[in-house]
Amino acid sequence: MNKLGLHANVWVKDWGREECALAVGKTAELGFDIIEISAPDPKAMDLDFTRRQVEAAGIEAVMSLGLDAASDISSTDPDRVKAGEKRLGEVVAGARDVGATYVGGILYSAFQKYAEPPTEAGIRNAADAVRRAAEKAAASGITLGMEVVNRYESNMLNTAAQAVEFCKLVGAPNVRVHLDSYHMNIEEANVEQAIVDTGGHLGYFHIGESNRGYLGAGSVDFQRIFAGLARIGYEGPITFESFSSVVVSQPLCGILGIWRNLWEDGEDLARHAKSFIEAQLKGAREGVADLGRSRLLPGG
Ligand code: MN
Repeated sequence: MNKLGLHANVWVKDWGREECALAVGKTAELGFDIIEISAPDPKAMDLDFTRRQVEAAGIEAVMSLGLDAASDISSTDPDRVKAGEKRLGEVVAGARDVGATYVGGILYSAFQKYAEPPTEAGIRNAADAVRRAAEKAAASGITLGMEVVNRYESNMLNTAAQAVEFCKLVGAPNVRVHLDSYHMNIEEANVEQAIVDTGGHLGYFHIGESNRGYLGAGSVDFQRIFAGLARIGYEGPITFESFSSVVVSQPLCGILGIWRNLWEDGEDLARHAKSFIEAQLKGAREGVADLGRSRLLPGG
């Protein structure tokens, strides 16, 4: 069974003790298994308090972030690559300290709109830096997820196929593909086939609607998304991600372009997301099972 996760930005925009306790408590109360914490700078977080809250609530934490221009490991500037590798090391250490076993996001380039495509040298720099970070992560049992995002948030991994290629270039077992229905809706020619082709490389999945709001209130083809997940027998985490201007702070707000309220009641949003995801998972699994039931003759 997939563990279901909830992004902390459904509850809070910052991560002081009060926000941490609220977000972790509500996430557990609603029956989610995982809380995803945006952690661009783990040194600014109370990691020990977070770990204790998460443990007491009986859930798991995962961390996510995007690198910035000064720490862009897909750059050909050695100083930026070095700074990026340092940042990845800090995040892996932070994840270890909160007891997280997964760090995902735009860990391979800057989280920004680029004006140029990536260079081959830059892609190789990113692969080398991720490989070294993955070695450190492996020592703490941490997996690194390369989140595939749309063209306005990175110039490098915009499709699942590119991410699979990148993971092969890195060649570390704890570096996996992280897909997101919001981004796939923009970039993939066929969302179901993209998931099927990713297959065993898939390590984490974000469920988000096309407008980042309520699931089902946008244009993402969730039937095809969940059919793809069911066809590959995906058993990994599925985390709901949604952003509204009521609970998002800078720089995330500006980079993601969160300009309006898609919702005001995070609890209603999250409850609905959980039942929506569970219903979609059930339907998709029954759809796959039905292939085995649709026989005209025994053994046909
Ligand atoms: Mn995402």
